[in-house]
Amino acid sequence: MRLILLGPPGAGKGTQAKLLVDRLEIPQVSTGDMLRAAVKDGTPLGREAKAYMDRGVLVPDGVIIGLVRERLQQPDCTRGYILDGFPRTVAQAEALGSTLEALRASLDHVLSLEVPTEDLVLRIAGRRTCRNCGAMSHVRFSPSKVEGRCDACGGPTYQRDDDREETVRRRLQVYTEQTAPLVSFYEARGLLRRVSGTGEIAGIFQRITAALGT
Ligand code: AMP
Repeated sequence: MRLILLGPPGAGKGTQAKLLVDRLEIPQVSTGDMLRAAVKDGTPLGREAKAYMDRGVLVPDGVIIGLVRERLQQPDCTRGYILDGFPRTVAQAEALGSTLEALRASLDHVLSLEVPTEDLVLRIAGRRTCRNCGAMSHVRFSPSKVEGRCDACGGPTYQRDDDREETVRRRLQVYTEQTAPLVSFYEARGLLRRVSGTGEIAGIFQRITAALGT
């Protein structure tokens, strides 16, 4: 299955993508995670991307499109994948369309996770990420068992620079301006499934799997 998870920052795309990886046994392709790994490793891509990410704006399309195109041709993507955080602009969606065409593949579903804006700031500003494995916790909604330590691997947790409140507001504005148009882009192509992203993680996952028929 080739699936896009669409939704504003903080909608729970990463969390639900990880549950879908286990259910569908296909990889999660998260451009945010790929960029953060590049930043951590200090690669040229990471150095270029960091300035954009810290400001809460999008990394240029050309950089991202090349990255994803390469990733989708890896052997673990042959049975499908879950795109999380890509595409984020109409240009990226169009580039994805031509990449898929060249690979003689097509998208199965585009899932739009919908959460009211007021909830998003609260969710992101309390989010903590593991420096080691990237797992997420939330100071209020899903605190780690030992404060400051990841439940999954014991690594130290931190607040991403771009999860601070003023950057979050900027990211939400960028989403509205540049990414939200993709909802109608995919709706017009008959691929869109809307799912409410509020409530318990397990309940949201149930709605997603029902929408996907898996
Ligand atoms: P995320 O973890 O998906 O919220 O991404 C964190 C940051 O990485 C974003 O605010 C952007 O600066 C950058 N980023 C991630 N995915 C993309 C993309 N598809 N296009 C442009 N920038 C991206």
